[in-house]
Amino acid sequence: MSALVLVVEDEAAQRQLLTEYLSRQGFRAIGLPDGAALRRAIGGEPPDLVLLDLGLPGEDGFSLARHLRERLPKVGIIMVTASGDTVDRVVGLETGADDYIPKPFDPRELLARVKSVLRRAGSGPSMPTGGRVRMGRRLLDLQRRVLVADDGTEERLTASEFDLLRLFAENPGRPLARDWLLEATSHREAEPFDRAIDLRITRLRRKIEIDPEHPEAIRTVRGLGYIFVPVR
Ligand code: CA
Repeated sequence: MSALVLVVEDEAAQRQLLTEYLSRQGFRAIGLPDGAALRRAIGGEPPDLVLLDLGLPGEDGFSLARHLRERLPKVGIIMVTASGDTVDRVVGLETGADDYIPKPFDPRELLARVKSVLRRAGSGPSMPTGGRVRMGRRLLDLQRRVLVADDGTEERLTASEFDLLRLFAENPGRPLARDWLLEATSHREAEPFDRAIDLRITRLRRKIEIDPEHPEAIRTVRGLGYIFVPVR
């Protein structure tokens, strides 16, 4: 089954151009005119990638990216921006988008980005099980479920701490919603004001960050949750 790509674009001609182009490239592309249509569409088959126009009537691309990221942690999101848009807010830490492309764009450039984001989003965890992942000043040993310091000393983790770090290790560079993290690691419904995740993150930052007051490995995504930024 080829990847499902939703194209959210209010200009009909542009929308048709994009869906036809992506269909010719072998994707299942569906065009949607606005945020309301997108919200309905993701109630069905979850898309692999959403091409999201920033300037839409009604709910804008920023808000929709956030909603998508909360509902579908693994979906790829490429924001399509007009020339006047401020792009420094667009990607990653602020909204949860994986990439952006400014209008007007070369279709081949778009295709390259679509493929690259799909590769990164993948169909599942990209980390080899049993490997070690660098997190700040420690290594997370996925098999032995411990943190390892550079001098080889090991620190034990509680089950919930390990579950949380594993989720970050499996989703490098992807903003993860607080509620989703809570559900995925504690197997219970998130309560609206539950700060359990924040407390666990604070504790984990003390264990892995070089400077826990200025975290580099597990960063806060304002209004959404957290992102693991791997060492490049
Ligand atoms: Ca538009």
